[in-house]
Amino acid sequence: FSAELEALRGLPSETTDGFALPLYLNTGLVVEQRPLGIDESAGVGLYRTELPFMVRDRFPGEETQRRHYRQVLATFAPRPVTIRTLDVGGDKPLPYFPVHESNPFLGWRGIRITRDHPEIFMTQVRAMLRAAVGLDNLQILLPMITSVDELDDALDSIQRACDELQEEGHAVRLPPVGVMIEVPAAVYQADVLARRVSFLSVGTNDLTQYLLAVDRNNARVAALYDELHPAVLRALTQVTDAARAHGREVTVCGELAGDPRATPLLLGLGVHSLSMGAGSLLRVKGVVRSISRTRARELLGRALLCERGACVRALLMDALEEIG
Ligand code: PEP
Ligand code: MG
Repeated sequence: FSAELEALRGLPSETTDGFALPLYLNTGLVVEQRPLGIDESAGVGLYRTELPFMVRDRFPGEETQRRHYRQVLATFAPRPVTIRTLDVGGDKPLPYFPVHESNPFLGWRGIRITRDHPEIFMTQVRAMLRAAVGLDNLQILLPMITSVDELDDALDSIQRACDELQEEGHAVRLPPVGVMIEVPAAVYQADVLARRVSFLSVGTNDLTQYLLAVDRNNARVAALYDELHPAVLRALTQVTDAARAHGREVTVCGELAGDPRATPLLLGLGVHSLSMGAGSLLRVKGVVRSISRTRARELLGRALLCERGACVRALLMDALEEIG
């Protein structure tokens, strides 16, 4: 890191006109040492549980998972830690749970698998709830939600896990639950989803892939994968408007959140926080601290008039140069 970035350590992530934009960490590793970015982050905005499942040779049981989640929660407490339920399938296979499909990204993945296998979901949720006893910094995030039925089922299961554990004598509490907005259907129903949960978290990686019908891992079409495509911006606007109308917070946890070029746009949209890899925290904070929210809104207004991603990108590059 440059000395300029280093100088930002410990400073608040807020705009020149005093608007705070907390920056959270995306992680998924076993927290054995102090993870990178721990002092710089407001907590964990996305803990991907796929990795702890992928490194084993069978589904980890409730106690194994509980210990794992406890370590993550305790490392960051009292800061919030958002743990996402299992999002395997698509590009994230489990060696001991083979799924063969010709269109894995449109197939059995995320909530679709755990809805068909309630025992996997319940074990994981029970482990999370037990891990949070006495810390109370857990938030649960649901991936790949495409319909209200999927969400209602998941919310019922979480409630049931909580009730059962309390009956068993565990001092568990129902945590805030959020839904990933990463499928176009969820954008168009952001209002009805928002009504049911505490927060929305936009997964721009999948949302871009599904909006543009471009495989996020296919090199041949990589040039078409554009997170600044005007359609993506319009989708983001719809999500933040819906969340605002229902008094819910919105966070962005896809790669776009860690791209300093996009920071003015996300600020202009009025998202409440961003979650990103450790390597992006200082760069993004640098942009937040050098722009006002008024200016960010003005930039967003201009970006929304663009008809192509290249126009959005040019606008953002000019803005970044201007703020240094
Ligand atoms: C996303 O889709 O933007 C996201 C954050 O989830 P993942 O990258 O794990 O699919
Ligand atoms: Mg995703």
